[in-house]
Amino acid sequence: VMASMAHLQEEKLRLQEELLGLQEKLAAQENDELSHSLQLQGQVETLKAKLLEQAQEISRLRSELGGTDTEKHRDLLAAENERLRQEMKACEGELRELRRQQEPCWDCTNLQENTGLQEQLSQLQREAEESRAKLAELELEVQQKTNRLAEVELRLKDSLAERAEEEERLSRRLRDSQETIASLKSQPQQIKYIIKTVEVESAKAKQALCESQSRNQYLQEQVGMQRQVLKEMEQQLQISQKTAAQLRAQIMMYEAELERAHGQMLEEMQAMEEEKNRAIEEAFSRAQVEMKAVHENLAGVRTNLLTLQPALRTLTHDYNSLKRQVRDFPLLLQETLRSARAEIGQAIEEVHSTNRELLRKYRRELQLRKKCHNELVRLKGNIRVFGRVRPITKEDGEGPEVANAVTFDTDNDAVLHLLHKGKQVSFELDKVFPPQASQEEVFQEVQALVTSCIDGYNVCIFAYGQTGAGKTYTMEGTAANPGINQRALQLLFSEVRGKAADWDYTISVSAAEIYNETLRDLLGKEPQEKLEIKLCPDGSGQLYVPGLNEFRVQSVEDINKVFEFGHINRATECTNLNEHSSRSHALLIVTVRGLDRSTGLRTAGKLNLVDLAGSERVGRSGAEGSRLREAQHINKSLSALGDVIYALRSRQGHVPFRNSKLTYLLQDSLSGDSKTLMMVQVSPAEKNTSETLCSLKFAERVRSVELGPVSRKTELASWPSQEHLEVTEWSPVPFLVPVIPGNPPVLPPHEVPSRGHTSPSPGQLSSRTASIRRKLQTSG
Ligand code: ADP
Ligand code: MG
Repeated sequence: VMASMAHLQEEKLRLQEELLGLQEKLAAQENDELSHSLQLQGQVETLKAKLLEQAQEISRLRSELGGTDTEKHRDLLAAENERLRQEMKACEGELRELRRQQEPCWDCTNLQENTGLQEQLSQLQREAEESRAKLAELELEVQQKTNRLAEVELRLKDSLAERAEEEERLSRRLRDSQETIASLKSQPQQIKYIIKTVEVESAKAKQALCESQSRNQYLQEQVGMQRQVLKEMEQQLQISQKTAAQLRAQIMMYEAELERAHGQMLEEMQAMEEEKNRAIEEAFSRAQVEMKAVHENLAGVRTNLLTLQPALRTLTHDYNSLKRQVRDFPLLLQETLRSARAEIGQAIEEVHSTNRELLRKYRRELQLRKKCHNELVRLKGNIRVFGRVRPITKEDGEGPEVANAVTFDTDNDAVLHLLHKGKQVSFELDKVFPPQASQEEVFQEVQALVTSCIDGYNVCIFAYGQTGAGKTYTMEGTAANPGINQRALQLLFSEVRGKAADWDYTISVSAAEIYNETLRDLLGKEPQEKLEIKLCPDGSGQLYVPGLNEFRVQSVEDINKVFEFGHINRATECTNLNEHSSRSHALLIVTVRGLDRSTGLRTAGKLNLVDLAGSERVGRSGAEGSRLREAQHINKSLSALGDVIYALRSRQGHVPFRNSKLTYLLQDSLSGDSKTLMMVQVSPAEKNTSETLCSLKFAERVRSVELGPVSRKTELASWPSQEHLEVTEWSPVPFLVPVIPGNPPVLPPHEVPSRGHTSPSPGQLSSRTASIRRKLQTSG
């Protein structure tokens, strides 16, 4: 027993030690658990605090920015969206309007602008869409986070509850164990049982410990998970904080902009206000100044009014006196009129007598002038001979034959030298025109003759020379550079216009041609009709051509028409106009009739412009048939002309007018105090020298006739007949007929009697001079 007792004792001691160890273990475990639970509690506490903090932070953020800001932002974006939508609508409306207005103008800048706007709009819409999507995402995220947070809270609560329960359970068990230990202490006999129980209990405790350990582990995992979640949430929070900061910065920027715009607007308003004030002030000051001026004016007007009153008084006085004068005026007027009438009558009488005296003097002067003119003509000789040398032309050809054979005297414009067959022959005429002389210069020498026609003189201008020497050029000229014909008529027109105050003039023209001694009218309806020259049946001895048309001309256009008509008639009558014209004489007869309105004096002058046939000696070169006949006729008529001029210049009693149609027709224009000009045309070409020589000899002889009656006779008689024959077939009549002494009678042309081929008896002459005197006396 003792042994068993000891054994039991030992057992008891071991058990006691074991118990102690267990107790210690338990205590340590308890301590451990306690500290662990404390730790856990601390952790839970801090988690709770953190959670609270987080919740607070979330709620704060939500209240401050988070939800509200996002919402605000969303609202802002929605408003912006709405505004943009409206803007877009307005833009679309505008666009439609613009399109309607400018349908055809697709390429204009508005379209580009519109497309730009549309693009901008669509981009803005896209942006709004994106923002909306982002907003929805954010909202979803916030929702998720809130849900998760609630979940975590729930889980946290659960775990806390579980923990509390566990603690409760553990503390209960601890109490139980302590109680058991105490009871065991009090009942050592039951130690075995107790030990067994303890053993059982310690196994159970061990199990519980394990459980609580696993539980602890699970809780720790849970905490780790919670931490993870918390971390994620923190990250999300950071992101949302960042977004919030960005949004805040944007808002600040917008606000700053708004502030700036507002400030600007305020400034502008301020400036406008200032300007308005300034303008008002200016207007006010101006108005003041004007007002002042008006006041001053008013004052001036007032003073004027004061000074005007006495003036008015004097004016009234004057008016009254004037009224009195007006009453007396008719009487005074009648008186004055009577005396004025008397004075005027007297003056008119005086003027009349002066006029009569002047008219008498004028008529006397007219007579004197005519006398002087006649004297001048007598002194100068009323037949003059000019020479004109044409320039070398292309038609002359080239080579030595065309060399110039004519030279001039630099000191004397009446002398010309011709180099013929190596010898120089000189000629003196009244004037010589060199090749360079213009149509104008030639006409200047002729115009005095032309104007004398207006005074009632008859004038003949002949162009003489071989074919191609320039006769037609001198008489007709070219369209651009007209000759004597047109210039003479133009001069007559202007002269007649100048005298229109006192005189009535009519100018008329006829054109005729003499071919083979046949006279034809170039202005007639039947130009081929032969015309006859007849004596006037009134016994005046004057000649006339029945059927010769005469046209009245008043302008250059009229002349040109007449010339054209004449040319056409001449051309239709022949096959070769050039040839024909060189074989016939062309005459332009201009008649100028005038009436002096104051004296009743009538004048009639005739201007005969004759383009003679070519003077070349065809007959000597063996021509036959019609050509020979033509040549004979030309020679005959040119000889007759030479005879007549010769007879006239040598003042013979008999002038052989009737020897040719030409001289017969021009009889009254060659005789009496008529004037004649012979323009001898020559070619300067070497090949033409023999014809040139002939023409110049003809010219010189015609001119040299007038040398004085006695010497003339002897000189002319001494002409070598051979040379004379060489020149032309012209044989001047013998100079046996006596020359009429003194001047030819002065008479208006229509009164000049035809001398015919009989010389007038002295009785006839004296009766004629008596009639002239009578005429002059009656005409003033
Ligand atoms: P005609 O009538 O004597 O036969 P034209 O008058 O027909 O001669 O003249 C012959 C040519 O010479 C024409 O071509 C004309 O233009 C020219 N001619 C004549 N005289 C002159 C001049 N003074 N200046 C220039 N050309 C002239
Ligand atoms: Mg000609």
